[in-house]
Amino acid sequence: MAAKNKSKSARDEFAPSVKRKLADRAGLECSCPTCNNKTKGPEANGQGVAGLGIAAHIVSASPDSGPRADPNMATLDRRSFDNGIWLCSNHATIIDSDRMRYSPELLRRWKSDHEEKIALQVSGVWVGNGILKEARFSNIGPFLGEQHISFAPRTLLLGNNGTGKSVLCDFLSLLGRYRFAEDRLPLLHNDRPWLEMVTYSNTQRKWRFDFSDSVSIKLEDAPFPYVFSGFHLIYCRDPFREPKYDNFEQVPEEKMNSDLLEALGEYIGFSPEETRAVICTFASRRPRFLDEIRINDTGRLEGKTNCTKGHWCEYQSLSCAEQQLLLLDLVLRAARFSGETTPTILLIDQGVLHTLDDSWKKQVVEELGTDSGPYQTILSMYNWPNGHDFSNWRVWRIERSKFSGEFSVIRAFGTMTRGIAE
Ligand SMILES: [Zn+2]
Repeated sequence: MAAKNKSKSARDEFAPSVKRKLADRAGLECSCPTCNNKTKGPEANGQGVAGLGIAAHIVSASPDSGPRADPNMATLDRRSFDNGIWLCSNHATIIDSDRMRYSPELLRRWKSDHEEKIALQVSGVWVGNGILKEARFSNIGPFLGEQHISFAPRTLLLGNNGTGKSVLCDFLSLLGRYRFAEDRLPLLHNDRPWLEMVTYSNTQRKWRFDFSDSVSIKLEDAPFPYVFSGFHLIYCRDPFREPKYDNFEQVPEEKMNSDLLEALGEYIGFSPEETRAVICTFASRRPRFLDEIRINDTGRLEGKTNCTKGHWCEYQSLSCAEQQLLLLDLVLRAARFSGETTPTILLIDQGVLHTLDDSWKKQVVEELGTDSGPYQTILSMYNWPNGHDFSNWRVWRIERSKFSGEFSVIRAFGTMTRGIAE
């Protein structure tokens, strides 16, 4: 966007053909990951076409003024398709109002992520507003009265220690092939616990789970033997809860090569071959948290971090926090891998983040919030101090009533800055 005080002649405007290409490749939608507004459609009161899309400049249209100006950029580059991003008029204004926040790197990521999403939609894979639309439940964990949560593409469940976040995640994971909810059943001694979840992938389905000694499943009120999904759920949780190995580190040394991948694969619900493919397919793409990850020539999993000073370091030699970050990178890749062909839910319980310090947790919330991969993300997190930026997330907070002592899940609206409000 232009600086208002700059004369028009000094701006390197896009040619009409470049604008057209930017709009088309964005599917005529705003490229901001939380917006996706349609930018063209019928006029409200007429026969014509109304549009509010703008081909915005990533690096300023003027060499020496305006947001993200770069005097060293050549005129041709400044006018090129690569320097444009398609936005609604609202976001075209917003990105110019906060220069620190909306860097060229961020805008380029928005653009490539958005184009990738549109390509998926064109190819028929639906991610839309998320696969899990809503959950209702009663008598599960510390929740007695009926609770209701509606989910967005990025949903955050906040609560203090012991408020039932992990219990809730375990039950949500019933939509995948995970058995953690069954481990919780002996602990449910309340009256008739139940859970209903509405999913949407091509068609809407209502699943009901009733719990006694076992789980009974109903689809649209009729008994059904399993969750036939048409989607994939990846559940990322505290690896110390794995039944097979107390910890990945305890895999015997001589079996390390094959078994670590096997253990990691089991963890994300993939075969060792798929796990290898997940790591190798995206080898050229920078991980979000570690500097790099790879499988080395001898088949061992390695990572590079700030602390390894540019050297590759085997998984077992990384610190606990680095191992958790590697795990996060791995599940993000797995979710992308899966989401490109199958609608995918990525469910992350805070247990997997427990060795990370607050600044890392903050970074995880921000990274996952701006990540517009082809999957729905549900993240549980320790209650966060007020003032943290939760933009891009729909936020639910687990609270305990001071009067009745009962736990409930409450939609967070005005209580935190920049949380999503609808
Ligand atoms: Zn927008």
